[in-house]
Formats: sequence, structure tokens, C-alpha cells
Amino acid sequence: MLCGLNPPQREAVLTTEGPVLMLAGAGTGKTAALTARLAHLVRSRLAWPSEILCVTFTNKAAREMRERVGHLIGPAVEGMPWLGTFHSIAARMLRKHAELLGLQSNYTIIDTDDQLRLLKQLIQANDLDEKRWPARQLAGLIDRWKNRGINPDQLDAVENEAYANGRGQQFYKLYQERLKALNACDFGDLLLHMVNILRDHRDVLEQYQQRFKYVMVDEYQDTNQVQYLWLRLIAQVRRNICVVGDDDQSIYSWRGAEVANILRFEKDFPGSKVIRLEQNYRSTPDILAAASGLICANSERLGKTLWTEQDGGDRVRVIGVWDGPEEARRIGEEIERLEREGAPLDRIAILVRAQFQTRELEDRFITIGLNYKIIGGFRFYERAEIRDAMAYLRVIAQPSDDLAFERIYNTPKRGLGDKTLEKLHRHARARGVPLALAAIEIADTDELPARARNTLLSLMRDFARWRDLAKSLSPAELARTLLDESGYTAALQAEKTAEASGRLENLAELARAMEEYETLGDFLEHVSLVMDNDAADDVEKVTIMTIHAAKGLEFDNVFLPGWEEGVFPSQRAMDEGGLASLEEERRLAYVAITRARRRCTILHAANRRIYGQWTSSIPSRFIAELPEAHVEQETTLTGGASLWRAQWSEHSDPFADVARAQPSRTVTRGPGWQRAAAQMYDPTPKRLAEPSRSAASFAAKPRGDVGIG
Ligand code: ATP
Ligand code: MG
Repeated sequence: MLCGLNPPQREAVLTTEGPVLMLAGAGTGKTAALTARLAHLVRSRLAWPSEILCVTFTNKAAREMRERVGHLIGPAVEGMPWLGTFHSIAARMLRKHAELLGLQSNYTIIDTDDQLRLLKQLIQANDLDEKRWPARQLAGLIDRWKNRGINPDQLDAVENEAYANGRGQQFYKLYQERLKALNACDFGDLLLHMVNILRDHRDVLEQYQQRFKYVMVDEYQDTNQVQYLWLRLIAQVRRNICVVGDDDQSIYSWRGAEVANILRFEKDFPGSKVIRLEQNYRSTPDILAAASGLICANSERLGKTLWTEQDGGDRVRVIGVWDGPEEARRIGEEIERLEREGAPLDRIAILVRAQFQTRELEDRFITIGLNYKIIGGFRFYERAEIRDAMAYLRVIAQPSDDLAFERIYNTPKRGLGDKTLEKLHRHARARGVPLALAAIEIADTDELPARARNTLLSLMRDFARWRDLAKSLSPAELARTLLDESGYTAALQAEKTAEASGRLENLAELARAMEEYETLGDFLEHVSLVMDNDAADDVEKVTIMTIHAAKGLEFDNVFLPGWEEGVFPSQRAMDEGGLASLEEERRLAYVAITRARRRCTILHAANRRIYGQWTSSIPSRFIAELPEAHVEQETTLTGGASLWRAQWSEHSDPFADVARAQPSRTVTRGPGWQRAAAQMYDPTPKRLAEPSRSAASFAAKPRGDVGIG
């Protein structure tokens, strides 16, 4: 169990009694030590597997830990019911005690869709204007309250004001009552209910305090208040609690995580042993130094030393490319090169800041036939909002597409209910026509109540108009128009949640994707091909995922695209959150770089197409914060970009000489490059001339248009 572990790791494994805090940077073997500790507890018969509570951050992490422990202790691992995520463990507990809350043990756990539907019903039943007070906003608030361990009667005045002018509490209460009547819980309830039960029922609390001889938690820096309360209740008697974490990797405050939990551990559990690990086993020295240098710019941190015995390896590469498509092309080429060199695809990851970034990559990978998988999210064209938009487009292209019609005839909500749909179906069947035609015909009869008839008629008029516009507008323009005119965009905007703004970004990205197609038909065909491209499960695939989802994981090669101001750090963090959000973005950047074992490649594009317009982008401030000695700067200058470079070198290109002497274009960053890089992009986003792939047509545009002088 202990072999291969370093002295502080051993100490963490062997200090079984009393509270232990393992606080250490990325890749220092925290999770490895926790796993060994779990095995040690069982092998030394300090506890039965069922007497250990071990919380991991994701189900995947739990599976991996179970597997590794299995190697160490054999089949005994089967008897470990309490190894899992907070949610899975709490759900299991709640099954046993549900009746204490008036639930039956076979309660259902509802998903976000159901949650929204319930909230909408409540909003309508209480005559609230859903446009003003969207269900999603209420859902977001309720989640937040639950994450903080707040029950409806504990809501303070300020929180209560946050929804519908002081009706927050009322709706929270109504929602909880409704859930109970349905014998259901949402995700947030699982822990909140358990905390309530443990607080109100001494016997239950004592039962768990006795049962769990040992409690262990990975990624403790990202626990939220209710998780913290739950752990503290369970562990406070035996006090055999071992938590591991890294304050620099706290990246879930938007979901209610409080890094303060790790900072106050010693206060909550006096006499705790703090173990620091400093040797990093994951990354090469340059990767480690680059990440450490970056995180230094944060003010709110405990500070740690990290070192590695490894030597050699490449510096962190920073590649500047012309635009998004070139970024995707470049990543594709690099991966193909790695593949030729024998690198397994499943040890390569592309980590993005925002979901919308995956689209260009997916399209490119499909084109070159590179197998990929998206973890922790849907593939771009499978996302709900994209499917909605596609459904509109399909109805325009093909009025007989009944499935598409059904999907959007009441999305966004326009007051057309199931009854109307039923009648439409009946009419369509009787007449042998598609739903879209049935809708027009039925609007001429008095089968429907006046309101539904008018709504339906106006929708069908819209469709007729869009179909007309489709003849003159480009597919992308058409998409933008119909998303606006159908009220789809407005409905999302009204939600004012982070999730909604992600959806809006995805829709903008969809329109961007469509720019490349001449006709709607071409585009729809492209998408059906993309959707069909599901490689078998047993082939090796490159992973695409968000940085958030990559926490705790490691890959040999990591690509980090989109390091530009407004993408990473995100616009939202820059606009709204002040210093704290910016520091969280920086921690996210630290997490991103430290996922890499051997090579880390950061990319930034000089131009992004946003809402159909080219804007120049500024490289992320995080690039400038990487220590120079550990970074290799490179610009790829193909096609139109060579002109860009030519212009750039006329001005203040710090490595103009090097570049001329050395056409390979791999340029090590010299002093002052950051300033030059910043100058080369115009910081005020301007409309750029449509950059064509061919330098010649691009050169024909007047210089002033280009915005990079
Ligand atoms: P993160 O903060 O990213 O979650 P971590 O601290 O949990 O990182 P691990 O994932 O446990 O780090 O370990 C990182 C890598 O180092 C893994 O590949 C692991 O197998 C390896 N490792 C851990 N401890 C040792 C050790 N003592 N000797 C050799 N390799 C080790
Ligand atoms: Mg870990």
C-alpha cells in the first residue's frame, strides 16, 4: 500500500486517527494518497469497507478510485457502498429515511427539465408574469439556497426580495410542497433533506456518527455550504476525517462552493494535522513552472511550493493563429502528428473554457475523421437550444417535418398546449397532411378556441415569411432573423442566468457555423452527417471537455484553445464579477495547465467571428502572466495570415529579425513580446474585413479596414 509513496503521503495514509488536512498543489498525489489510505484502512482491519465514507467529486473519479482500491484489496472493494459523490451518497442515505420527511423511500429524483416545468406551473397558477420572472431564474435561486443549506423558513429578507418583489420565500415553499406531493426531490434536496434529518433526528445522526469510522473527501476546496454541514454533522464525534484539496483549484464558486471551508478546517477540527505535499509527479518542469507562475498573480491564496524530479520536456507552447477555423485546423494537425508518433488518442485532451468553443473543433474533427468524445456535456448539435434552432430551420426547409414542428410549435412558450397539438394531429391524420399544413387548415375552422387559432395563424404566417426570406438571406442571416422574430432569443435573454447566456453563446456559434454554407439544405445535410458520426465505443478517442469537468484528471497532451480576452477570462467574469471572478478564472487557467503531463499547448486567435462580424481579439492576460522562461511563442502564418504578419513586422515586431532569419517561424519569446502582441491587436474591437482564406483577396482590402496596424 505504501510502496512508491513519498514520506508526507505515507504520513497521510498512516495518520488514521484524528482530523487530517492534506493541502497541496496540483499533481502532488493527493488523490493517490487518499486512495492508498482507503486501502490501508481496510487491509489493516481498522474498518470494514462499509464503515468508510469516501466522497469524490465526480462519478468518474469514484469509479477510478474503486478500481484502484480493488487492485490493492481485492474483492472486499465490492462492499463499499459509501464511496461516491455527495449526491449519490446522500441519495442512498435518504432512501432509508425518506419517511421522516413525509416522502416514500421510492421517491423520484427529478431533473432540471422537470424542475422547470414544475416551477412554470407554479408561476402560472399564481398569476405571475413568467416573462418578467422566468422559471429558470427561480430555479437558479432555489438551487443557490439549497446549496447554502437554507430551508424556505430560513430565507432572509434580502434573498426573499430576489424573486418577484419579495415572493421568493412563497415560491420556494410552494415548490417544496409540490415536490413532496409528487413524492419527488430535486438534486439540491438530496443533501438539504439529509442535513435536515440529521439535525432533527438525534438517533439517525448518532447511527451515522457511529457507523462511519472514517470520513474522507477529495477536492475539498469545492465543497459548498450544505455539503460542509452534512460532513461536519457526521464527522464531529469520531473526528476521523481526512480532507484533501488545493485552494488554487477552487473553481466552483458559481455553484456555491466556498473555498473558506478548506481554510477553516483547522478551526472546525482543532488539533488537526496538516500535511503538505510539494513534489509534483504529473508534469514536466516547464509546465509546472508556467502554472505556478500564473497562479502567483492571485492575491487570495495560501501559497505553496511545488517541485518535480522530472527533467527535460518541452516548454509550454503558445500559438497565435489567424482565426477560429485555423485554430481548429492547427489542433487537428498537431493531434494527427502526435498520433503518427504513436501517442494514444485517449491521452490527448482539448479543454475549453466555454461549451460553444467545441463546435469548430467538432466540425474540423469530423472533416478529417478524427475520433473524439465530448465529456460532461452534449455534443454541440445535440444541445437543446441547438436542436430547437435546427427544428425551426427544418420546418422552413421541409414543411412536412412533423417531428421538428412538434418540437418548436410551442417553443418559446406561446400558449399552445397539448390539447391544440392533439387536435392538430387528429386533423393531420384525417386529411393526410403534415402538421404544418394542418395548422393552417385548422386555423380556418372553429375547432380551436380563438386565442389558440390566432397564435397558430401568426406562427404559420411567420413561417411563410421566413420561408420567403430563405430565398434572399444567407442561411446564417436567416437563422439570426428567425431566432429573434420567434422570440426565442428574447426568452433566453429574460432568464439572466449563466446557463442562459451559455445557450445564447451556443446559438451565436450556430449562426457562425452556418456562415460557411451557401444554402440551408447544405447546412442541414452537414449536420445530419455530423450527428451520424458516432464512432464505436471501443476505439480510442480524443477528449473534448470543459476545464471545469477536467478537474482531478490528467492527460499526456493538453490543448487549450481560445485564450483571448472575452473568452478566457470570460466576458462575464470581466464585466460583472470584479477581482474575485477574475481570480477564479485564473485558478481555472491553473487547473487547465496542470492537467498536462508532457505537453501543454495554448492557442489564441487574432480574430473571432462574433454575431457574424469579425472582431479582432486580444490575447488573454493569462498568456502575458506566464513566466517567459518556460514558454515558447509561435505564430502560424499561413494563407491570409502571412499578410497579417507582414503588417505586424512593419510595426513593432520584436522578433522580426529572428523570423526573417528562420523561416520555420518557431520563435522563442523575447522580452517585451507581450506589449508587442498587445499592440498588434487593436484593443477596441473593430469590424474587420471579411478575411478570406486566400491572401490575395484579403490584400485587396484597404489597410484601414483591417484593424491590426
Ligand atoms: P489534482 O490536484 O490535479 O487532483 P492530485 O494531487 O490529486 O492532483 P494525483 O492525481 O493523485 O494528484 O497524482 C498525480 C500523478 O502522480 C498521478 O499520475 C499519480 O499516479 C502520480 N503519483 C502520485 N503519487 C506518486 C508517487 N509517490 N510516486 C510516483 N507517482 C505518483
Ligand atoms: Mg486529485
